[in-house]
Amino acid sequence: MTARRAPPPPTLTLLVVAGLTALTVTSSGCSGVAEAPVGASGEAFVDDRSPFSSGSAGGWCRRGPAALCAAQPWGESAAAAAARNGSGPGGGAHTALLPHCFTALPLVAVTAVSDSAAVYRFQLPTGAALRHPLGSHLLLRAADADGRAVTRAYGPVSDPRAVGYFEVYIRLYPSGAMSSRVRRWRVGQTALWSGPFGGYRPRPTDRRLVLLAAGTGVAPLVGLMAEAVARPAAPRLTLLLSVRRLQEVFPRRRLARWARSGRLTYELFVTGPEEDGERPWPGETVTRRRIQRRDVLAAARQPGTGTRYLVCGPQGLVEAVRSYLRQAGVSHRDIVIF
Ligand SMILES: Cc1cc2nc3c(=O)[nH]c(=O)nc-3n(C[C@H](O)[C@H](O)[C@H](O)COP(=O)(O)OP(=O)(O)OC[C@H]3O[C@@H](n4cnc5c(N)ncnc54)[C@H](O)[C@@H]3O)c2cc1C
Repeated sequence: MTARRAPPPPTLTLLVVAGLTALTVTSSGCSGVAEAPVGASGEAFVDDRSPFSSGSAGGWCRRGPAALCAAQPWGESAAAAAARNGSGPGGGAHTALLPHCFTALPLVAVTAVSDSAAVYRFQLPTGAALRHPLGSHLLLRAADADGRAVTRAYGPVSDPRAVGYFEVYIRLYPSGAMSSRVRRWRVGQTALWSGPFGGYRPRPTDRRLVLLAAGTGVAPLVGLMAEAVARPAAPRLTLLLSVRRLQEVFPRRRLARWARSGRLTYELFVTGPEEDGERPWPGETVTRRRIQRRDVLAAARQPGTGTRYLVCGPQGLVEAVRSYLRQAGVSHRDIVIF
């Protein structure tokens, strides 16, 4: 979850939104943390109602989209949305999100994964699918307690072809700016989303994918694993996943199922102390320490055989893993950092 290259310089745009004028900044993406004051328009980011019904719009992100989309797909008929976005693969379903502006979408379900993380499901207009590229992320925009715009990236964990909804897996941090907003979300409220951004392009020569992730860093890899497991010709998968607690493994049921299919092998590295009642599931390999150099070297012992390494997590993990892989002789062309 580390930004790899600087996005192009932002473009200033004067946009008229639903009769309101907003100064906006647009660019191709806004990974990670970006904040800027919202000023008098802070209420535009209140997520419990449509920004249009609140009667205000505005705000910006230094490296990302800023404006609310001029035509909010929510409330449009499927035909109108299709005409606006065009139809595409996935049974003709059309996409509902745009990368250059934010769309208000209602939260329809929250499924707890652990006491600090949950899967949040957002509703898309009838007939719409997110159709995000594998490994891509979305941007969520909200206002923090002081009315400042907060923009954070989250990787969708639902099937890109799922019609009518998408899901994100979010961990909440005690002092996190976005975490404090998400903690107050209630089903029925809306939140502002834009995207998708980035993504992973498989190579025809890929024979094996080694996925190295920590915590919610697994999110961008979920869709990729689902796709690879479903296609017999797809590369075989090895996942090394680091979590603080066993209960934070996500998506735990799917990982177990994919492993039973024989197309995924995975090892869980649990960094926190053992908790009462915590048990590995059948088929799980659990190691109680951080991912270390020897683990990465063992995974990389067959470089040059169509193996690609996908790394996603906090900066420390990404830097360490990258350096271990390079020491093992893995070409930088075979290392993908999310
Ligand atoms: C491309 C990309 C994809 C991402 N996908 C996801 C995703 O699918 N799900 C998800 O939950 N997050 C994801 N993230 C991280 C997410 O964007 C936020 O950084 C995260 O939710 C914290 O935001 P916050 O505003 O709550 O915390 P901030 O206000 O940014 O941070 C406040 C404090 O929270 C703690 N904190 C924040 N982040 C971490 C961390 N990673 N590890 C440990 N402590 C931390 C620290 O103590 C920090 O000082 C992704 C990031 C990127 C760049």
